[in-house]
Amino acid sequence: MFKKEEIFRPESLMMSYGYNPAWSEGAIKCPVFQTSTFVFATAEEGKAFFEVAYGLRGKEPGEKTGLIYSRINNPDLEILENRLCLWDKAEECAVFESGMSAITTVFLEFLKPGDVVMYSMPLYGGTEHFLQHILPKWGIKAIGFSPELDEEGLLSQIRENEVASDLAMIYIESPANPTNTLIDIEMCKSVASQLSTKEKTIRIAVDNTYMGPLWQHPLKHGADFVLYSATKYIGGHSDLIAGAVLGSSELITRIKTLRTFLGNMASPWTGWMLMRSLETLKVRMEQQALNAAKVAVYLEAHPKVTRVYFLGNIPLNSEQHKIFQKQFLSTGAMLSFDIAGGEKEAFRFLNALKLIKLAVSLGGTESLAEHPATMTHVGIEPQKRIEMGITDALIRISVGVENYHDLIWDIEQALSD
Ligand SMILES: *Cc1c(COP(=O)(O)O)cnc(C)c1O
Repeated sequence: MFKKEEIFRPESLMMSYGYNPAWSEGAIKCPVFQTSTFVFATAEEGKAFFEVAYGLRGKEPGEKTGLIYSRINNPDLEILENRLCLWDKAEECAVFESGMSAITTVFLEFLKPGDVVMYSMPLYGGTEHFLQHILPKWGIKAIGFSPELDEEGLLSQIRENEVASDLAMIYIESPANPTNTLIDIEMCKSVASQLSTKEKTIRIAVDNTYMGPLWQHPLKHGADFVLYSATKYIGGHSDLIAGAVLGSSELITRIKTLRTFLGNMASPWTGWMLMRSLETLKVRMEQQALNAAKVAVYLEAHPKVTRVYFLGNIPLNSEQHKIFQKQFLSTGAMLSFDIAGGEKEAFRFLNALKLIKLAVSLGGTESLAEHPATMTHVGIEPQKRIEMGITDALIRISVGVENYHDLIWDIEQALSD
């Protein structure tokens, strides 16, 4: 059979894949299916849809999941999920009303009391808060590890903490925010395989918000789940909040079942907005990466900049560079740098920007700058923060699609302020 996804690249399919204009009076675009419930043609059909949705029986060959109620499924979500699968070559995807709901639903479905999660540091603040302050209420323990650890180092930290037999998940963010430290997914997979038993599979989850879905494909390197805050690059216009998780049909079916009962699926409108965003995802991200590389070169040479954290300037032949070559297809569009001085100098720079906006979040069409130590990463203990390289002099920039000459002009005038 002719399979479009085997011939065409994802960016060629983002405008049409999974949608048939005949479903909507020939409309070229999938409309917003702003409806709570769906009419069954017959009572028999309704019965069949429920049997599949509630897992009372498997699907017959060629049988589709019928539309029942928008908490369970909706065309704007299903078509969006099918399109997102193309980039990561995933079997299935579930979209959520936020990145946090995608992440926490994975934790709730795959962890139980007594389990332990090892996680790379630093993590997105919301994820770290959930691991450290919410999951312990259910008897689930989370232990952070340094992204600099190699396989032996990670294994010995797990053994020293005496948690090898309770380990259920390794959760990573690579590159780490805001220092762009890279973590080897295959190394984590190897640790998970060594400690898994017949009764228990240790899962690997990767938050790929920074690089995906274009430039890092964690499933290919052995991850079980790839997670996104779709609020960032996938949405890309700083105008919505959404999330996604992708993986095998078996695992995502479990997540979708829990999603049905938590009720944290994305709305039809959010689904429609994300489909519109996906059409330009590649052109946006490529321009953003090109701009970031230009800005990084400028910052490297500036006398008031003491260090630049960017995937484009990892020393050749270092361990980090080996991970980069294995796992990454681009240097991305996120960079951080240390300004000469401390908080005072950093704030003076941020307050002087004229084009780049002072805001948290990332991945949107407009460039954003922020101060991790007092903003996104203020929740981390000061001592730990310094160890991670998040000093008072550190500034993070999410580079947008503007003309890079204008971005450099803005940075230049703000640095000379
Ligand atoms: C923003 C972000 C999240 C949380 O996503 P929301 O859509 O804000 O819920 C998780 N991980 C990373 C890396 C993020 O940048």
